Amino acid sequence: MNSIREDARPGSAIPDNETIRKLITKALDMRKKAYCPYSGYSVGAALLTGTGKIFGGCNIENAAYPDTVCGERTAIFKAVSEGEREFTAIAVTGGRSEEPEGYSVPCGSCRQVMNEFCDPDRFWIIVARNTEDYKVFTLRQLLPESFSPAALM
Ligand code: ZN
Repeated sequence: MNSIREDARPGSAIPDNETIRKLITKALDMRKKAYCPYSGYSVGAALLTGTGKIFGGCNIENAAYPDTVCGERTAIFKAVSEGEREFTAIAVTGGRSEEPEGYSVPCGSCRQVMNEFCDPDRFWIIVARNTEDYKVFTLRQLLPESFSPAALM
């Protein structure tokens, strides 16, 4: 691995269990703020920055369906708009029921947005039902052979 972007964004080690639980707790809390009157599928996300800050996000639907934004992108756009560009991990939780029945994995658009800012081998995506039941993936696992900023440099 010797691409420009990986040199520029060193990434981080997998977060410890305490940090993971903290992110999941924040994501579960953000889920309560979701605006999803059409699908009833609420998503909460919590993004950890390289500087140790956590930005929350929820999905925000719209009567014009394509204008809907996912919880993950809400969190990323909030962070970028506040000057953050290095990210370590994101926790995501979602579903139709109060207690998520399954794992809510990021959609393709969110994975691509993550790929803009994150080292694919050292950005951790935590999909959680609760603080004890979760899976952790690298971005590369969820978006292999991706189109990245390196292609345009
Ligand atoms: Zn998405």
